[in-house]
Amino acid sequence: MNDNQIKIQFLGGAGTVTGSKTLLTTDQHSLMVDCGLFQGLKNLRLKNWSELPIEESSVNDVILTHAHLDHSGYLPLLVRNGFSGKIHCTQATKKLAELILFDSAHIQEEDAEKANRLHYTAHKPAKPLYTTNDVEACLGLFEVHNYGEWIILNKDFKFVLHNAGHIAGSAWTEIRSYGRKIVFSGDLGRSKPQLLLPAHRCEEADYLVIESTYGRREHEKEDPKAELEKIINTTFQNGGNVLIPAFAVERTQEILHYLGELLVEGKIPKKKIYIDSPMAISATEIFMDFDFRRPIEKEILEILSKLVHGIRDGGASKRNVESDEQKIVIAGSGMLSGGRILNYLERHVGDSSCSIVLTGFQAEGTRGRQLLNGMPELKFFGKYHRVFANIHLLKNMSAHADQKELLLWIKRMSKKPKRIFINHGEPVSADSLRVKIQDELGIICEIAEENKDYIC
Ligand SMILES: [Zn+2]
Ligand SMILES: [Zn+2]
Repeated sequence: MNDNQIKIQFLGGAGTVTGSKTLLTTDQHSLMVDCGLFQGLKNLRLKNWSELPIEESSVNDVILTHAHLDHSGYLPLLVRNGFSGKIHCTQATKKLAELILFDSAHIQEEDAEKANRLHYTAHKPAKPLYTTNDVEACLGLFEVHNYGEWIILNKDFKFVLHNAGHIAGSAWTEIRSYGRKIVFSGDLGRSKPQLLLPAHRCEEADYLVIESTYGRREHEKEDPKAELEKIINTTFQNGGNVLIPAFAVERTQEILHYLGELLVEGKIPKKKIYIDSPMAISATEIFMDFDFRRPIEKEILEILSKLVHGIRDGGASKRNVESDEQKIVIAGSGMLSGGRILNYLERHVGDSSCSIVLTGFQAEGTRGRQLLNGMPELKFFGKYHRVFANIHLLKNMSAHADQKELLLWIKRMSKKPKRIFINHGEPVSADSLRVKIQDELGIICEIAEENKDYIC
């Protein structure tokens, strides 16, 4: 590296949504922004097992924009492979990352154990990608900061975090190096998030790295709350239960808030609501402690505190599945790939009076997607189950800015970046956003490519 040059390398999240890891290097220091896991289809997941093309021990610091696994999930491996610097993030991100990373390690340990027990592994013995011990070690390196607080890392890098309005604790970051302003959007929230405060405005940037999850399209206009009201009333009139598979972080809190509003407005009956997920209960507590959200009305909090019951204990969960009480259940996992929701499905998926309400994007290959596709049978617990329950999808529940909202965030800058890199999106989404930015803003814009060196 020459003096005053900064090299940007995308080690993940390029040409795909997951695995975000970007390295900034000067002649003396290096800084990683996000350190996520590849998720989804098998060829992507296999990438988590390949070595990074860098020396982990040479990375001085990591900035973690938010807790989602596609941004945080590789951290335990980075640490195991030699990284010993600090991982910088907000307080809420640290707390949520702790939940998410332990959950991830548990799932991997269980999967490896199951593969060994049932002998369906080509690798003998099957090993988890990382363990709870690795997570423990990585959490020891976290250092938390407030939004708006400048942190000097070394002579080459300083940075600040600002609210991104995506999930609790989420941030976009501005990095200063050799007088240049490099902004990473992280994952950007909607212009008007349901519960969080909207993303802080970015004043200016020389270089911008922006996500493109929804770079190709605009969100639907449907009102999820009205849809939920209809589903709940019809289901209760038919004598059924409402089962809501939901992600623990953010989506569960959003659903709870809709339910609270509907209850206060007298639009749905006052039946009990169960959050059958230790992770969702903890995530809700973290959310309530987070300052950068809209205030929740007293009436909503009161009615929810009467009707919502959290279930942590496994035995209590089993009893709740068996009880005949008419109820609303929120449980993980959000795409039905595992978790306690499957116990409820085992009892109710064949019941035509019940409703299953999917609450977000359902990836290819998941049971959630199979239900949406109208599959007559669903396989879980080693058996096929006939599907007679009513399947619904709440539209317009995304935590990501859509194309218009991403553009708006850039348009509102008083000084536009001279170069933009697009990451965190499928190729078609990234390219649509690229064309749009070039057409509407006239800024040089390129789609981030993995392991290519970009010099700034
Ligand atoms: Zn995210
Ligand atoms: Zn993401």
